[in-house]
Amino acid sequence: MNGGSAGETESAETEPREPEATETRPAVGPAAATGGPPETGWRGLARGLRDVLFPPSCLHCGDMVERSPLRHVCAACAPLVMAVEAPCCPCCGHPFFGEASGERLCVHCEGLRPEFREGRTAVLFKGPARALVHELKYRHGLFVLEDMAGLMAGNPHTAEFLRGATLVPVPLHPRKKRERGYNQGEELARAVAKRLGGGTAVAELLVRVVDTQTQTNLDRERRRANLKNAFALAPRAPINPDLRYVLIDDVFTTGSTLNACAALLRRAGCLNVDVCTFGHG
Ligand SMILES: [Zn+2]
Ligand SMILES: [Zn+2]
Repeated sequence: MNGGSAGETESAETEPREPEATETRPAVGPAAATGGPPETGWRGLARGLRDVLFPPSCLHCGDMVERSPLRHVCAACAPLVMAVEAPCCPCCGHPFFGEASGERLCVHCEGLRPEFREGRTAVLFKGPARALVHELKYRHGLFVLEDMAGLMAGNPHTAEFLRGATLVPVPLHPRKKRERGYNQGEELARAVAKRLGGGTAVAELLVRVVDTQTQTNLDRERRRANLKNAFALAPRAPINPDLRYVLIDDVFTTGSTLNACAALLRRAGCLNVDVCTFGHG
């Protein structure tokens, strides 16, 4: 008879929505509630009424959102939004799970020669965080900005990094912006600046002059070549070398776009250029 490995089936059920690697010393943890001021008066009342009449449904699982720290992610899914903390890669901000970091860059940043000083990200780009970004980028869901900005302002790791800085959105080409109706990076920067206060400003210093086609099928070298002349300084962009500039984008992918923008800002005389993204994919 077969001497039975029957009982030792490994329970390798991988729940797809479960965040990974939380058993090590967390460089991520469930994201905190939004850091914005509570809404009062008529606006708060109107919002409360709206939520009763049209209760928001969770962008991740579709359930009704009640008693959740986020407005568009339900209480069960909200803990799946993983806020990034130190230690993390000094370039892209991706967390180092449990390892001592030093100054080395992570695997995402190999081959990237950062033109900026430091990069941070607020959350891991997965699960409900990914759903928020998709809603904003592809479904015209500007309403998710309050959750996204709240997560950036509610994570001390990014809030301290951003407060008081001048936030520079990564620009979209005018054609793309027309299509979408807005630049999600710009909207995010404004929403975050509003939450953080403390002199946090937004400056649209850059424009996208070349309509680069989708970059996903290109290797890093080709992307870099494509991106080299894709951006320009906005006409009469006020550059103040004394200010600290932080480039803002929704997601850190290869870093090539952010790097091209950082190079341009530096050439224009910005001495302190950092980057910050909502999520890291
Ligand atoms: Zn949910
Ligand atoms: Zn990195």
